[in-house]
Amino acid sequence: MTLPSPETADTLIRVMLATPLPHADGALTYRMDEQAALLAEPGQLVSAPLGKRQVTGMVIDKTSGTASEDKAITYKTAIPYDAALRLTVEMQKFLNWVAQWYMEPPGGVFKMAVSVPSALTPEMLPTGYQCIADPDQASTPRRRNILIALSDMAMLPQTAASIHALTGASASTIKAMVAEGLLKEVPLASPPSASLSALPDRQYPLTDEQAIAADQLAAAVDAKAFKAFVLDGVTGSGKTEVYFEAVAAALRAGRQALILLPEIALSQAFEKRCLDRFGFRPRLWHSGLTDARRRAVWRDAIKGEPMVVAGARSALFLPFSQLGVMVVDEEHDHSFRQQDGVRYHARDMAVVRAKLSSVPVILSSATPSLETLVNAEQGKYDHIRLTNRFGEAGMPEISLVDLSKTPTERRRWLASPLVDAIKKALANQEQILLFLNRRGYAPMSLCLSCRERIVCPNCSAWLVTHKSAGQLRCHHCGHSSRFPEQCPSCGVEGMIMACGPGVERLAEEVALRFPDARQGLFSSDVITSPVKAEAFFDAVHKGEIDIIIGTQMIAKGHHFPGLTLVGVVDADLGLSGGDLRGGELSWQLLTQVAGRAGRAEKLGRVMMQTAMPEARVLQSLLKDDRAGFIAAEKADREAAHMPPFGRLAAVILSSRDQEKLTAFTTQMARQWPNYDGMTLLGPAPAPIRLLRGQHRVRFLIKAEREVNLQRAIAQWLDRVKIPSIITCQLDIDPVSFF
Ligand code: ADP
Ligand code: ZN
Repeated sequence: MTLPSPETADTLIRVMLATPLPHADGALTYRMDEQAALLAEPGQLVSAPLGKRQVTGMVIDKTSGTASEDKAITYKTAIPYDAALRLTVEMQKFLNWVAQWYMEPPGGVFKMAVSVPSALTPEMLPTGYQCIADPDQASTPRRRNILIALSDMAMLPQTAASIHALTGASASTIKAMVAEGLLKEVPLASPPSASLSALPDRQYPLTDEQAIAADQLAAAVDAKAFKAFVLDGVTGSGKTEVYFEAVAAALRAGRQALILLPEIALSQAFEKRCLDRFGFRPRLWHSGLTDARRRAVWRDAIKGEPMVVAGARSALFLPFSQLGVMVVDEEHDHSFRQQDGVRYHARDMAVVRAKLSSVPVILSSATPSLETLVNAEQGKYDHIRLTNRFGEAGMPEISLVDLSKTPTERRRWLASPLVDAIKKALANQEQILLFLNRRGYAPMSLCLSCRERIVCPNCSAWLVTHKSAGQLRCHHCGHSSRFPEQCPSCGVEGMIMACGPGVERLAEEVALRFPDARQGLFSSDVITSPVKAEAFFDAVHKGEIDIIIGTQMIAKGHHFPGLTLVGVVDADLGLSGGDLRGGELSWQLLTQVAGRAGRAEKLGRVMMQTAMPEARVLQSLLKDDRAGFIAAEKADREAAHMPPFGRLAAVILSSRDQEKLTAFTTQMARQWPNYDGMTLLGPAPAPIRLLRGQHRVRFLIKAEREVNLQRAIAQWLDRVKIPSIITCQLDIDPVSFF
């Protein structure tokens, strides 16, 4: 027997690739240099060839063999990155957990954790040049001057660019001077990260109620064990101040803190609050960052640098190696749910990650989701309540405007009681917010000649009029077209009428009724960047806007001290949708909007226009009876075995070929194995039957809490062979049903 020669004694390793490979563990076998393999523990990030590409991978296992024993197959070689680039065991478990729960290929989930490929290669430290000779040793006067200039700079190394700026020296001159022994090349260090040793003390004391809550949270951080908290307090009660103390505890222990926020809440105001409390700005993480910023955050996360990351949902997949605490602010917000790609819920998965990492997680909200409240009630989460608004601010006074008693005029949307209240507030120089959760000018357009509604050519949805842009737009697929002169159906000219109000149309009415008031529109069509949002808030704070007109974007987290009146133009929107969480969502949104009023000394007023004043949501808001509302919603869900008392999963099939889709889904339903404790509903056309040119059919599976829903779905899908012209999407624990 001959010993394998050194160059063939490579070790075989299993590598998971950052791409959704269809097979079970998403891994392939590679060879790795024996020396490298000795160091490559599971979690080690590597670069691996896949077809013609180089893909990021992660070592998941070493196989026992060496490449030379297994001559039949030629394996490609994976090359490890820096040994510090290794995902922790907890992170590996977390990624697996997410993949299994949402039934996604593990490689697709892993890809979210290595979302910044440029962060994997070592930082190219810029080269600096230091003067190491006496100016008199220079061979020319020009070089002499360069040396003098550099000695003046306290001998600190300078980049070629700054030497050029200082002296006009070209790159080739500098190189020549290095060769002559006049200058030395030295790597320039990267700037040090924020110093955490000097964490400032609080600038002002917490109230008793706040202090008790903060102590509880900080103690949990110090205990370095899993615990889930619901931080439940009215808007303005100081929830942010309280969870900041948990973050401070993590920083003091040299660990990392993650604060997840709805994207729009990641404002400069939030950064400023962190700066005030911690003495440095949080590291932001959202869709609008440059690659350099993302790279820096990602690298510091995996290196275990003490840091505070404030991020949108995808920050949950940052490779923190020293996590100390996680916060989900506005935990009820549906934007924590990703709706395409891997459909995960960042709030739910934050709890999972906290558990696997043995750290506490804090779910904060003024209107916690029913799921979270039930978990608290069952003792799974610790429930911390803050009952008082901070300072002088009282809770706003809520009233309903019954539109059957005081109807609006034709093609007007503000009824007289609200109009009067606005006049009064304007006279007192107070600010007003008019809330209407509808973008654009009008949600629907109708031809008066043929009575046809104008629909999107790609989707089964009405086109929304955007008057200022002169367009009709589809809010589902992004289709847009010029506003037509003629009806697309009957060709008659000038008979198209806009029906119903959007914020643009409301703005027209406001301009007509209150010509002297200065108004500002806040919707995603106008406020297209954080910079524009910041400018808007600034204008409000400076009192340059009297009447704010906004969609749900304005409802979240902003603090407007001069605002005293909130008018909800259509409180019935969202109440008749039949969506499982419609009532809850509407209650949360209206509570949040109402919370914008009267956050300073002046008492706030909220007026809600409605045609259904008896609706449960409105009555509970009116009577300030949150407990009653939650109890009734809970009873409904429990009776119907709906979440959180039962589970749901949706299977959505789509295709351009409607006939084949119908035939296939009918056959699919017959293959359902009739499991105990599970009911298959469907196939049924999706509420949006046509989306981006694809016909859509949905199944909904309702299950008891205890059964293994994922396994049942996997077995079912194994039985049916989905043809390539049909796309199948799984939505586990869905939050939207379109
Ligand atoms: P929430 O997150 O519950 O809406 P915040 O933490 O934003 O409440 O607090 C509301 C306002 O009250 C903020 O401007 C905050 O700075 C202020 N505030 C809260 N608690 C205190 C306190 N103990 N001392 C001083 N200001 C406070
Ligand atoms: Zn469309």
